[in-house]
Parts: sequence; C-alpha cells; structure tokens
Amino acid sequence: MPGPILILAEHLKGEIADITFEMLGIGRKLADELKVTLHSIVFGKEAESIAANLGVSDSVFVVNNPQMDIPSTDIASNILKSLIEQKNYSLVLIGGTNVSTGIGPKLSFRSGLPFINFCRNIWVKDGMVGFTSQLFGGKILSDVGLPGNRGIICIYPGSFPSNAGKSDKKPSIETLSLPAEETKVVFKQYIEPEAGDVDITKQDVLVSIGRGISNADNISMAEELAAILGGAVCASRPVIDQGWLPLSRQVGKSGMTVKPKLYLSLGVSGAPEHVEGMKDSGLILAINTDPNAPIFSVAQYGICADLFDIIPPLIEKLKT
Ligand SMILES: Cc1cc2nc3c(=O)[nH]c(=O)nc-3n(C[C@H](O)[C@H](O)[C@H](O)COP(=O)(O)OP(=O)(O)OC[C@H]3O[C@@H](n4cnc5c(N)ncnc54)[C@H](O)[C@@H]3O)c2cc1C
Repeated sequence: MPGPILILAEHLKGEIADITFEMLGIGRKLADELKVTLHSIVFGKEAESIAANLGVSDSVFVVNNPQMDIPSTDIASNILKSLIEQKNYSLVLIGGTNVSTGIGPKLSFRSGLPFINFCRNIWVKDGMVGFTSQLFGGKILSDVGLPGNRGIICIYPGSFPSNAGKSDKKPSIETLSLPAEETKVVFKQYIEPEAGDVDITKQDVLVSIGRGISNADNISMAEELAAILGGAVCASRPVIDQGWLPLSRQVGKSGMTVKPKLYLSLGVSGAPEHVEGMKDSGLILAINTDPNAPIFSVAQYGICADLFDIIPPLIEKLKT
C-alpha cells in the first residue's frame, strides 16, 4: 500500500505561486489513481491564510514561523524529512523554482529517498508511477521510475495546468509548532525587479534580441517593432550582460520562462540555455544569418538573412 503524497506549497509576498497549483493538480490526479491521500505543507507567517486556498489537498500542515517566510533549505528539508518519517509519504513534490529548488536535493540526501529533477510529466501505469525528466536544457527527455514509487520530485515550472489545482473547498488545517532552528543560511532581503519594467512572462508578443543586434543603439528598432505588434522586447543573456536591457528582460535558464503567442527572435543563436526559456511559445519565428543556427530547430518559421535587411522594411510595411 503506497503512502500519501505531500506537496510543498510555495508563495511569495503573500501570493500563492502558480507552481503550487500545478503541483496540486497533478498531485490530486496521482493521489486519486493510487488511492492515497494528498497533503500540503505551507511555511511562513502567512501560512494559515494561504493554506485555506489549497482545498485540492485533503489536509494542509502550516508552520507559521516567520523564520520560514523564504525557507532556508536546511530548515525546510529537516521539517520535510521528519514528516516523511512520521507519515510514510511515498512522493514529495517540490517546485523547481528559484524559491524552492535547493530543498529537493538536500531532502533527498537527508531522507535517503531518490530524487528526480526537472520533472515535466507524471503518469500511472499498472500501479507504477512514471516520470519524464528533462536533461541538458530539454535536449534529452528521460522516462524514469522509482523503486516502490517513493521519491522526491522537483517539478519543472509550467509543465502542468494550474487550473486543476484550484478549488473553493476548504481543506482541514493542522498547525505544526516547531521551535526556531539554527541555520547557516538566512534570508536577508528580497531584491525587487526594476520598478516600472514590463513583465515579459505576461506578453502575447515578444521580440527577442540577441548578440546579432550588434549594439545598444539598434534596440530602438526592436522596440518599435514590438510596439507595433503590441508586445515587448526581451533578450538573450549577452544583451543583458552588456547592460543594454535590465535583467527582468532575460529569457532562459538564468532568466524568465516565457510562452507568448508569438516569439520573434532576432540575431539569437538558440543556445540550450536560451531555448529552455522560450521553446513552449505558441509560434516561433527566427531571423539569423547562420543557416546552421540551432534556433532554426525550434522555430516554426525561419529567415536566413541579416536582420537589418528585414526589420526596417517590415516596420514600414506594418505601419501602412
Ligand atoms: C549556466 C548558464 C546559464 C545561462 N543562462 C542563459 C539565459 O538565461 N539566457 C540566455 O540567453 N543565455 C544564457 N546562457 C548563455 C548561452 O549559453 C549563450 O551564450 C547565449 O544564449 C548566446 O546568446 P546569443 O544567441 O544572443 O549570442 P550568440 O551565441 O553570439 O549568437 C548571436 C547570433 O546572432 C546571429 N547574427 C549575428 N549578426 C546577425 C545579423 N545581423 N542578423 C541576423 N543574425 C545575426 C549569429 O549568426 C548568431 O547565431 C547561459 C549560459 C550558462 C553557462
């Protein structure tokens, strides 16, 4: 008989993160198929009000200790380890986000349970749970199983629909009172993105610029095109590293994951670290002078040409 499933609910500045609802949706499906219960745990001083919105779980543990607002991986993994021991959890789902990503490996080491990272799909077949994990920024997809269906699973954000994790039902809530713990890592300050900048994850149209844009003065051309198309400009890492655009515009492994309806890529090579953040866009159109640029493998439409020959006449055409 497999044990119940536990989800580490994630929130930031009082708002429940989308990854929490993604995990609740897939967690509920798994729990129903395996005929086990689904539990969540929330850390932080706002844990109780957040827990009330996690009705897809059968029950929620809250740890309303202010030390846990942004939990240190040390403390979080210790609490989760002792819960696994007490309740015999089979699977623990944790978000693969900047907030939670460090907890899974530590918990795996401390609990002795195997760890699956970058999990993009989960299914049940003949009582066995299968997982798809993405490797090398999505170049390889690997299907894996776990001995006894037990392990720690780090969920790749954006892999599961979040609506399935939302419900008006009120879960039963249990408060765990835990003493403050010594930790070597302390959360000090949340650094806000630059004020007034656009949120590239919410745009329907993105004009993405790479090193092929050549210099900062040419960015105005991309901005003009984005404005005409009703979107915004984002960029690959070299553009951000040069200081031509703020970090909030970076797409990729160390930037944002975006899924606009249209992703128009200008002078971006398509390195795996960039593609990881944009490959699920609705329609990808790439302009690059190099016919072998890897961006053409993910783009539905490609133009092998100099972007400066294409964009100015395109802007003129769109204006009319
Ligand atoms: C740990 C790690 C994390 C990283 N995270 C990220 C990340 O989050 N996001 C990210 O983007 N990168 C990231 N990188 C960097 C990544 O590996 C690449 O170096 C980077 O994406 C390359 O950016 P680029 O395509 O703009 O530049 P380049 O690779 O230099 O490509 C420029 C492209 O422009 C084309 N070109 C040049 N001139 C023109 C022109 N006039 N018209 C049309 N095409 C032209 C060239 O043919 C070329 O393909 C990361 C790397 C590491 C190691």
